[in-house]
Amino acid sequence: MIPQTDPGAGYRALKAEIDAAALRALGSGWYILGDEGRAFEAEFAAWLGSGQTVGCGNGTDAIALALRALDIGPGCTVATVSHTAVATVSAIEMTGAVPLLLDIEPDGFTLDAEELRAVLERPPAGLPPIRAAVVVHLYGQAADMSAILAACEAHGVTLIEDCAQAHGATWRGRKVGGIAQAASFSFYPTKNLGALGDGGATVAQDPAVVERLQALRQYGWRERFISAEAGVNSRLDELQAAILRVKLGHLDANNARRRAVADAYDAALAGSPFIAPVRRADCEHVFHQYVVRTPDRDVMQARLREAGVGTALHYPAPVHRQPAYEGRVALGPRGCSATDVARGEILSLPMFPEMTQEQVVRVCDAIRGL
Ligand SMILES: *Cc1c(COP(=O)(O)O)cnc(C)c1O
Repeated sequence: MIPQTDPGAGYRALKAEIDAAALRALGSGWYILGDEGRAFEAEFAAWLGSGQTVGCGNGTDAIALALRALDIGPGCTVATVSHTAVATVSAIEMTGAVPLLLDIEPDGFTLDAEELRAVLERPPAGLPPIRAAVVVHLYGQAADMSAILAACEAHGVTLIEDCAQAHGATWRGRKVGGIAQAASFSFYPTKNLGALGDGGATVAQDPAVVERLQALRQYGWRERFISAEAGVNSRLDELQAAILRVKLGHLDANNARRRAVADAYDAALAGSPFIAPVRRADCEHVFHQYVVRTPDRDVMQARLREAGVGTALHYPAPVHRQPAYEGRVALGPRGCSATDVARGEILSLPMFPEMTQEQVVRVCDAIRGL
């Protein structure tokens, strides 16, 4: 069976380099917030080309910390999408803010800017004021940033980019994560830049916000043992930082490989029951996932399984259809109709940079044989 993703392959491909970095971190005698973490933060910021990076425990905390550092919390509503990892919504609730889940574009997978504009113009009754939006660059492609930025600017709404699936994706030549006031990244092992454990980072442009992030991730300390405000414990450890420094050096090449696999899939999809993912003209996609659509999704998934091709659903249920949120969480004016359609049609094909050419050809042959 060709796996849908394979983080172990990412380790094996760089084993010597990663092992050396891990041994260096273990031998250093310093395990939390030290030289490796500081070096990774500087190297990641240089690679991103904007802002400053503050490492933290995971990508969920990174969203919550970004919101808190920008004064978003109790008494605020935060708009985002339902078609995302539940982490996005979980992070908003962690701050004490209220999430408002908006629909995606009918032919895409990211926030419908028209929905955002409508909800900012006529905020739903019974909710605190909408003070922020979290835009998710899902599957590795930037959302419709020009319209989203315009809507947020017109209404004085803080914008945060959830870049957990989009390390290296660009919009008009700019890397995502450097477009809004703040951004979050996850280094969960399967992400385009993956640690071998948990990890995350927040990026911010304003030095005062960066300082606040550095405090909030460690009990609100600005000086050791003295909490200037109430914070949390969410730190990137030295072992993961050392591993991430190695992986960062291979990120651009790995993203190029993902795009090459996507090009092969695009070609194989012609005449198949699958609709290829839409690529925006002004964006470079980094294919965290290659997600096709078909009304016969369950049948096609079973046939691919029989042909030895592993697939996955990202995600089997949108947030507003999950038991913890259904009936409780607020939705935008048109509900989440496009999200509900997408839910039944999406299928993620195998996508990881270490896929061999032979595996890519086998997946393409299986698609042509459907
Ligand atoms: C993975 C992911 C997160 C959360 O990251 P963790 O490191 O698992 O906490 C947040 N948002 C999106 C869109 C993700 O894919």
